[in-house]
Amino acid sequence: MSKRKKIVIGNWKNNPQTPEEAKKIFKGIMKKATLLSGVETVVCPPTLYTGLFSKEKFGAKFRLGAQNVFHKTEGACTGEITAAMLKAAKVSHVIIGHSERRALGETDAIVAQKAAVLLREGFKPIICIGEAIHDSEGEYLRFLENQITSSMALIQNNNMLDVIIAYEPIWTIGAEQAMTGNDIYQTTLYIRKILRDVYNQTISDAMTIVYGGSVNPSNIQDIMTQGNVDGVLVGRDSLSPENFTNILTVVSKS
Ligand code: PEP
Repeated sequence: MSKRKKIVIGNWKNNPQTPEEAKKIFKGIMKKATLLSGVETVVCPPTLYTGLFSKEKFGAKFRLGAQNVFHKTEGACTGEITAAMLKAAKVSHVIIGHSERRALGETDAIVAQKAAVLLREGFKPIICIGEAIHDSEGEYLRFLENQITSSMALIQNNNMLDVIIAYEPIWTIGAEQAMTGNDIYQTTLYIRKILRDVYNQTISDAMTIVYGGSVNPSNIQDIMTQGNVDGVLVGRDSLSPENFTNILTVVSKS
């Protein structure tokens, strides 16, 4: 089995409300993240703030991400941000298909187009998937299979390893509790089975899968030791340099 790298992604969503706060949080995270080995950190601020950090040096340990991209490279569309604009802002990773954007109408077909544009332009897409209801009959597994195959429908096999899958069960996002490490393990096992059946064993073994949903310093140890994941996607706690760097430290040691 191939050795996969660890990654921690911070999704600031539409926070903080001022550029001054954004700079403070960013500096606090970057200072620690660049000192840690064994983990890649990706910070995804609101796109408007990415320009604040354009003078920073991004390397293998610390990357700038975005939370969305337009699914076409040209054509008029008011309010959209293209992949070329993100590239100019030194963004390397882009979250697509987040449940909050899916709730606003982003379909699997659009996510698939976004992934294709991003890969063509040299980005690493972070494709979010996740069920709304974790039913005991296992219907959620079929939902995940469909979401994976539809969202990744336009990706060639040779690009698959540039894609990160973020398994984010919707019922754990912004919640009080994360999924347990053991439950995450069961689901990621199934996700790797889908990847093996649809693509092949090599892709299934080598693809990066992270978990997201109420990750914090108290549950990160369980998630990393029991969950069989390559890292985490963090929402709320990515806005606290202290909590986020605690999470990073645990992931770097796991
Ligand atoms: C998210 O926004 O993707 C997320 C996981 O948020 P939180 O960590 O706050 O649950």
